[in-house]
Amino acid sequence: MTDRPDIKSLDRAGIERLVAELGEPAFRARQIIRWLYGRGAASFEDMSDLPAALRAKLESRYAVGSLALEASETSSDGTRKYLWRLSDGVTVESVGIPAGDRLTVCFSTQAGCAMGCTFCATGRGGFVRNLTPGEMTDQVLRISDDMGRRVSNAVAMGQGEPFANYEATLAALRYLNSPDGPGIGARHLTVSTCGILTGIRRFSTEPEQFTLAVSLHSAIQRTRDTLMPGVRSYPLPQLREALSAYATQTGRRPTLEYALIADVNDSDAALSALVTFCRGLLCHVNLIPVNPVKGSGFARAAESRTRVFMAALAAASIESSLRAERGTDISAACGQLRQKRLSGD
Ligand code: SAH
Ligand code: SF4
Repeated sequence: MTDRPDIKSLDRAGIERLVAELGEPAFRARQIIRWLYGRGAASFEDMSDLPAALRAKLESRYAVGSLALEASETSSDGTRKYLWRLSDGVTVESVGIPAGDRLTVCFSTQAGCAMGCTFCATGRGGFVRNLTPGEMTDQVLRISDDMGRRVSNAVAMGQGEPFANYEATLAALRYLNSPDGPGIGARHLTVSTCGILTGIRRFSTEPEQFTLAVSLHSAIQRTRDTLMPGVRSYPLPQLREALSAYATQTGRRPTLEYALIADVNDSDAALSALVTFCRGLLCHVNLIPVNPVKGSGFARAAESRTRVFMAALAAASIESSLRAERGTDISAACGQLRQKRLSGD
């Protein structure tokens, strides 16, 4: 570990300011960004088209952070889960999901999470710290290297709540989107939030066409409050209003994630509340079979209930899909590899 800050904790404007402070021409910022986010340079020394004097100045002020691979597991379907150790010893995880010509990376935005969702392995472990932009983009670059192919999609759906770390998450998305970085199309970059309204409103005004997903899990206030205690202060009618404004402002369709849990949110009453919530809202419902997390007491809803939900949504002309399960043999639900390592089973 070093006492110098990680240059990858800076956003693009931060690198531009640094370059100006060092009295260097503005184009140097772009060169540095290309090295860090396009080519995954591990040191300033690697940046061969920068003058030696500039490399030395950068070296005296900043470090180039990197992730150490702590563990990985590959599923029989090709999904690969990674556990990374950050420079201060904290661990986070990500998943690489190949499908045809696509490779999707699910990355973490925080170590741990403060929101405390009761069905979520990360939420049950509490909050550790925010990740920097570079700690997010490195998960994507390293998985691309490891799998030997380009990442087509990246989703902030690993550990953490992206809108509780808004600036760093947006800086990471911008590096991932940039032609100086991996150049992933904005529509192929998705943020999943538990429903922090200030974040949704702000996200609606961003110029890029990034994709929004919101974890709903229940359209009944009481049930949602129990499942997701961290968003109790953001009531459902206001969430719906923020989503509706998002759709109007951006012309894009947010995804609503709904993990079906037996006897918790799979009843007829829960379904009817979901239909009411979605009716007239531009949205897409993604039904997810819940991954039973140890100690949560939650079990997956019966397949017959999933079919009833799908049919009722279709009958109400609400677009929906059932998330294909990937990597269940390696506990690829985010938070689970870390939990497994920590508990030693
Ligand atoms: N904090 C953000 C993003 C990370 S969680 C959010 O909550 O949206 C990514 C997704 O995984 C969320 O939709 C979350 O609700 C879901 N999830 C968490 N634990 C799960 C589990 N045990 N089974 C199924 N989905 C789960
Ligand atoms: Fe945090 Fe998302 Fe897990 Fe909730 S589901 S605890 S918001 S990571």
